[in-house]
Amino acid sequence: MLIGVPKETLKGETRVAISPEVTKKLVAQGHTVQVEQGAGQSAHWPDSHYEAVGATVVDAATALASDMVITVRAPQDGTRRQLKSGAVLIGMLDPFDTDGLQALADAGVTAFALEAAPRISRAQSLDVLSSQANLAGYKAVMLAAHHYPKLFPMLMTAAGTIKAARVVVLGVGVAGLQAIATAKRLGAVIEASDVRPAVKEQVESLGGKFIDVPYETAEEREAAEGVGGYARPMPASWLERQKAEVARRVAQADIVITTALIPGRDAPTLVTAAMVESMKPGSVIVDMAAGRGAQTQGEDGRGGNCELSRLDSTVNHGGVTVLGPGNLPAEVPTDASALYARNVLDFLKLIVKDGQLALDLDDEIVRACLMTQGGALLRGKGPAPAA
Ligand code: NAD
Repeated sequence: MLIGVPKETLKGETRVAISPEVTKKLVAQGHTVQVEQGAGQSAHWPDSHYEAVGATVVDAATALASDMVITVRAPQDGTRRQLKSGAVLIGMLDPFDTDGLQALADAGVTAFALEAAPRISRAQSLDVLSSQANLAGYKAVMLAAHHYPKLFPMLMTAAGTIKAARVVVLGVGVAGLQAIATAKRLGAVIEASDVRPAVKEQVESLGGKFIDVPYETAEEREAAEGVGGYARPMPASWLERQKAEVARRVAQADIVITTALIPGRDAPTLVTAAMVESMKPGSVIVDMAAGRGAQTQGEDGRGGNCELSRLDSTVNHGGVTVLGPGNLPAEVPTDASALYARNVLDFLKLIVKDGQLALDLDDEIVRACLMTQGGALLRGKGPAPAA
């Protein structure tokens, strides 16, 4: 197949969808790979690295006119118009972006959103949410350490002892687990909260302490089970008790990292302004859900899990630094792109057979990721059966 890899156009996006390593494999499989000039530059892969493994370096229009176009983010208006009708587009296309997906359907593109893959064992190697969240969790801790005016580990020195930093992680999915593991490696003392009970064991196995908020009703227990591995909104009664427990921990914390999300919904507010005010000056909050909170509806990207965070900004509130990084994987573009490209390569195994597109819509992964086909907006539901 003729595969195109355009340069990402979204502001601040430094990743590239296909690495030289994966290009080499695609070329070995008989595909022709056209990489836009400079596409890998921000990930520190110059054009020559792609050419060395058999890719052709082309202009944007040529890359976008390929039979299959692979991106990191959904193409913006200008680039979307350059896709061919009937082309296949693969990327993180945002399954909840109805307008963007409708535009792809209207353009006659067969679009796959990789974020829509089900959280099942067979999908692990192509799970872009996990590969990117894992790196984001690491980077969030690095960012916190950079802004924190003290150290993470306990240090006994001739000049006296330095206490270990207290880190609270709220939301323990893939990013939260990596944040715990990274903070632990740096020597911090960690506490963590999540709605899903299965997380307790994972937190403890990484050396953290789970903030237990027992379920008191069948409704709370049922909500906590989530759906498809994801969290569901918890009843207000449980959230109130969680808030009280979290507030006590946050007041003692030096670092708070929040990653609590519910797919397709506003991020829950877990750290209020009052809680921020209870923290010591010099403390740092990294809100990985910044810009996705119910408070965000203002124009300024305010709010995520923390009421005071602002998307892509640093807020100083009474000496507490509140960071709202919107795209942490883009801050580690080489590794993020390398893992993303391997995810894509694995996804291609499901939809390309003998060098040709071969869609098996009985495959639950293919079906879940298929957003548009033949002009229709399918969003993981598959085409309607023939009348
Ligand atoms: P996510 O980014 O959607 O959410 C992050 C975390 O926030 C989740 O753990 C969620 O339970 C938690 N959360 C939501 N509301 C909260 C609240 N009010 N308070 C505290 N925490 C709250 O999650 P994710 O990282 O994408 O992982 C989602 C699930 O998928 C997890 O169960 C994970 O283990 C599972 N998973 C499975 C596979 C696989 O088997 N292929 C791969 C990766 C992840």
